[in-house]
Amino acid sequence: MSKETLQFETEIQQLLDLIIHSLYSHKEIFLRELVSNASDALDKLEFKSQTDQSLLGDDTELKIQIETDAKERTVSIIDNGIGMTHDELIENLGTIAKSGTKGFIEALSAKDKNGSTMDLIGQFGVGFYSGFMVADRVVLTTRAPQADSAYRWESKGDGSYTVEECDETKRGTRVTLYLKDIVDDDQDFTQEWVLRSTIKKYSDFVTYPILMDIERQETPTDDEGKPIEGAEPVKKVTVETLNSMKPLWNKRKSEVTDEEYKEFYKHLSNDWNEPLDTIHLNAEGILEYNALMFIPGQAPFDLFTPENKSGMQLYVRNIFIMDNCEDLLPSYLRFVKGVVDSADISLNVSREILQHDRIVSKIKKNLVKKILERLSTMLDKEREKYLKFWEAFGQVIKEGLHNDFENREAIADLLLYSSTNGDELTTLKDYLERMPEEQKDIYFITGEDRQTLIASPHLEMFKNKGFEVLLMTDPVDEWVIQGLSEYKGKNLKSVTKGDVDLQSEDEKKENEEQVKQVSEEFSKLLDYIKTSLDGKVAEVRISQRLTGSPVCLVAGEHDMSASMERILKAANQPVPPSQRVLEINADHELLTRMRELYQSQGESDDLKEYAELLYDQALLTEGSKVISPELFCSRLTKLMLKAVAK
Ligand code: ADP
Repeated sequence: MSKETLQFETEIQQLLDLIIHSLYSHKEIFLRELVSNASDALDKLEFKSQTDQSLLGDDTELKIQIETDAKERTVSIIDNGIGMTHDELIENLGTIAKSGTKGFIEALSAKDKNGSTMDLIGQFGVGFYSGFMVADRVVLTTRAPQADSAYRWESKGDGSYTVEECDETKRGTRVTLYLKDIVDDDQDFTQEWVLRSTIKKYSDFVTYPILMDIERQETPTDDEGKPIEGAEPVKKVTVETLNSMKPLWNKRKSEVTDEEYKEFYKHLSNDWNEPLDTIHLNAEGILEYNALMFIPGQAPFDLFTPENKSGMQLYVRNIFIMDNCEDLLPSYLRFVKGVVDSADISLNVSREILQHDRIVSKIKKNLVKKILERLSTMLDKEREKYLKFWEAFGQVIKEGLHNDFENREAIADLLLYSSTNGDELTTLKDYLERMPEEQKDIYFITGEDRQTLIASPHLEMFKNKGFEVLLMTDPVDEWVIQGLSEYKGKNLKSVTKGDVDLQSEDEKKENEEQVKQVSEEFSKLLDYIKTSLDGKVAEVRISQRLTGSPVCLVAGEHDMSASMERILKAANQPVPPSQRVLEINADHELLTRMRELYQSQGESDDLKEYAELLYDQALLTEGSKVISPELFCSRLTKLMLKAVAK
């Protein structure tokens, strides 16, 4: 048969033009594509040989080889797989019908053609044709098992290709790329280290060995194996396997040792420490996938920066598809490092397609469920370990309360808070269990640290009543809690906001008369304090929360809390003007004395100053700054002088 010259189908040629002229920077993916084609060809042969052993002949070791020729500037990818017949060759490498790049071409025509072809190449991979990113000529020879002859395919990517018979005797396919001149050393694919690192990155877990002849200069040794001094080094060639071939995730859990998990985690995460926990799933049934995920022992320094990306990698049948795959886990689980491999996903899947892929979203749903379940078991059964987890990633998990409505309950179960109940952190569930019957809501207070919070005047009545209060000291809690207004039917209420209703109906009835009387007695003083404070507070009223302290400040039910204001101020964010309510303790001696003073002397400069001092006290006890420290001090000094002079 003589040499045939054939034209590429129009779409293939368009694709080739794009590839050849593309400035796409990750040109090394051609190797991933060609190795994956070789691995597929080996899969096919292996499958067929199960029913027809003779197809293998005496060439039974299925493998992929990489060969280079620095002088000719070529790199070859060789397999002893299924090969192609003459007709298959033309159909597969010349027409669009059989090309795996169909999706690419479709996406291309849907997009602005001048636009983001670079992205598309990266996202899709362009199969066999990606060789033209690095080569200006590609030669492929192939021989199907038990075929009468072998064929040679060649093209410069310029519209046509040739096919002719050749005298290759070995089964399988050899793709030789005649490399273009390169600018960067790390793009020189005749170099051993470039090939080695590219294979490691993209094809490490391919299940067939990827072999390469490695040349080393060795000093000759004597009979005892000692180097002979002064002897000229000699060239020695050894065959090395470049890939580890160990896709742990595709093994059964029982087949993997602890050591292997740990080592793989290190390889995956570049974290030198051991993972805190390992989750290995082999899902079978309607949805088939394997997932191997790790929870690290500590948070990376950039956990809260935009640079921190998802730690998940996507594989399709042992072939690396992409890193930082954000569609496999929600952002509040971005600290999880791992791999998902599913044969149900297309090898040519892109990031854009992933977002809308039903299989991927089902996998994601399952993964989230499993991780949350795992954490919940850890919380129940391995408290120490969970505390470590919580310290490292509690803040991130909390984001889920805002972003993952479906799993809100499960996430809320994982929360841990400090509380007035003791030194240990508590879950909301345990809080509920301790709740006295007459307590209606779950109470919390937010602020900078436990010490300030626990001393806060707002807690006095709650302590008196034996009502536990959660002490939330994480700056994100303010925001988090907005996403969690209730837990198992109980409202979460801030003790620093709105009216509190801590009295039972009976108590209320009993005190009704007294409250009325006190309100009347105090009403004028309250009005006076409000005018004296000159717009600083919205209202002055008698408190239900205080038992020991004279005053405290309370925000409106829907207003920003003082601690939120402090956070915003510290971050130089604008704080919307808000006026809080000054609550006074009518039972406190200071207030009764002030009332008497007002009744006997009416308005006075002294009383006005006292009102200011009360307000500043309220600010200080809640951890806020007084508006004018100078004024506060001069008032205090004046007061002290009076006391000392007496
Ligand atoms: P894909 O591999 O995604 O199908 P390609 O454009 O890379 O798309 O390859 C097109 C077809 O060419 C493959 O489907 C396969 O049938 C054939 N082919 C490519 N490489 C080889 C190979 N090394 N051995 C046998 N067949 C191959």
